[in-house]
Amino acid sequence: MNLNIMDSHVHTTFSHDGENEMEEMCNKAINIGMEYITFTEHVDFIPIDDAYDYLKIDEYFNNIQRLNNKFGDNLEIFAGVEFSEPHLYTEQLKKYNNLDFDLIMGSIHYIGDNFVGNDGLLNEYSIDEIFLKYYNLLFKTVKNNNIDVVAHMDFPKRYLNYEYKNYKLIDKILKEIIKNDIVLEINSSSLRKGISTPMPSQWILERYIQYGGKRVTLGSDSHSINELTNDFDMIYQLIEKLNLVPGYFKKGKFIKLE
Ligand SMILES: [Zn+2]
Ligand SMILES: [Zn+2]
Repeated sequence: MNLNIMDSHVHTTFSHDGENEMEEMCNKAINIGMEYITFTEHVDFIPIDDAYDYLKIDEYFNNIQRLNNKFGDNLEIFAGVEFSEPHLYTEQLKKYNNLDFDLIMGSIHYIGDNFVGNDGLLNEYSIDEIFLKYYNLLFKTVKNNNIDVVAHMDFPKRYLNYEYKNYKLIDKILKEIIKNDIVLEINSSSLRKGISTPMPSQWILERYIQYGGKRVTLGSDSHSINELTNDFDMIYQLIEKLNLVPGYFKKGKFIKLE
């Protein structure tokens, strides 16, 4: 199976930090042999975040439709979002759930007013405390909200390069994810930032399987054309070794990659 044909976590200039336009991303995707791409632009309601009120939804859907018409024979393009802090913005999330998205991915990016990667957090808390706070927020998110996929589950690792092995808490979250029919993402962006493991780490995926989880999406978290499907070969080996089921989302439904 060739997993380099899809990428389910991609940002374009519809996100405040995306470098390339959607059409450039599609051209590159076709050039490297991809068949499916899911754009997952940032949706943030934290007023201090640069992404606050950034996504122009109508224009976004129009562009995806236009590019599906243009590239449809070679590339299937899906409309997703990466919705930040779902536990804080449940009403806004409901609105997004009622729109025509293929994929709603939930992410925790903030602990209070601090982005998870801010050095400031380390002045206030130990590394264990940062992970503990992060996972408590993630638990709230997977317990109470209607999301399809959890993005970069052990996200603080990308900045702290640390394995937080609080099995009790991780297991509680994984069980909730499985119970609520949510899918885990394997996100490769940590690998290009010098961390030796994808997000989440293998031991978390093994526990996911242990509790009945199987389905995963693959995301490079690309913010430019050069990052599409980065390090997916390594993730492919992991998926094969663990016997996970890779797929993508179409109209809110998981489609297994054959
Ligand atoms: Zn994210
Ligand atoms: Zn992202």
